[in-house]
Amino acid sequence: MLTYTYISKGKFGLKEKPIPQIKDDRDAIVKVTLASICSSDIHIKHGSVPRAVEGITVGHEMVGIVEQIGNSVKNVKVGDRVTVNVETFCGECFFCQNGFVNNCTDKNGGWALGCRIDGGQAEYVRVPFADTGLNKIPDNVSDRQALFVGDVLATGFWAARISEIKKEDTILIIGAGPTGICTLLCAMLKTPKKIIVCEKDESRIRFINKHYPNVLTVKPDECLEFVRKNSDHGGADVVLEVAGTDSTFRLAWECARPNAVVTVVALYDAPQILPLPEMYGKNLTFKTGGVDGCDCEEILSLIESGKIDTEPLITHTFPLEKIEEAYEIFENRRDGVIKIAVEC
Ligand SMILES: [Zn+2]
Ligand SMILES: [Zn+2]
Repeated sequence: MLTYTYISKGKFGLKEKPIPQIKDDRDAIVKVTLASICSSDIHIKHGSVPRAVEGITVGHEMVGIVEQIGNSVKNVKVGDRVTVNVETFCGECFFCQNGFVNNCTDKNGGWALGCRIDGGQAEYVRVPFADTGLNKIPDNVSDRQALFVGDVLATGFWAARISEIKKEDTILIIGAGPTGICTLLCAMLKTPKKIIVCEKDESRIRFINKHYPNVLTVKPDECLEFVRKNSDHGGADVVLEVAGTDSTFRLAWECARPNAVVTVVALYDAPQILPLPEMYGKNLTFKTGGVDGCDCEEILSLIESGKIDTEPLITHTFPLEKIEEAYEIFENRRDGVIKIAVEC
């Protein structure tokens, strides 16, 4: 079968590999119908994900049809249309039991697919712990509507969930890339008083203005002043930092009012500085880390009821054979790209 593979630092390539087989009775083999490209794939390509293993098939955002299941798999059956969770998790360890599935202590736990084991930019993928990692897609939800459930949308949902957003809050989301927009969609479900999105890219600002006209937008240079002017207590009550560039971590805590929650969703390429003397007395609460992707069923039902719609994020569609072209557009942010669907 055809796969897109991490060959060595800086190099991905199309490669033929055998179709994966069941290795454990909790595995499932999924025939991938649609996959997507995530900025984490780009981080792997550039060597900034140290645990990524050369030779693995990349891709951790996909939907497909269950082709085969191991003997102890109960929650899905052959022929089911499913979303695949970015995280594989046992469901039994201390962290899984507490909903911290990103920290699952099993050796296959956490982000393994398309990082440490073969992922889904391929015709087939083996999914360990299929009972927790696969969710059945409701009949009236299309593959395209469900494509982001297991990764970027799960991340946005988790970020909004942990950020303690209240009805009277002004919230600031920094970054309107795919994860930023998913975070926005999930934050909107909490109906805060005001949402401000900070983004430097013109086409992304236009996208937000067109699709979510009630959301205020601002560029980074004017952000601090704008947030102060548009909030009730001299800064945002909640800040979600989803951009991950050199200056956005600083911007995040600067725009927060005293005693605010600052949720750092971004994955940085370089260490960030936490200037505690400057922050002293601001009494901020920082929440950081990687998604706990354990709400996929709830997210699917929100899509089914029309409360979340990520389909407008798919700006391009390519067949797997042309995935190199898709990466070129995604990585260089050409042509107003937000997300790309790859037909496998
Ligand atoms: Zn991802
Ligand atoms: Zn676990």
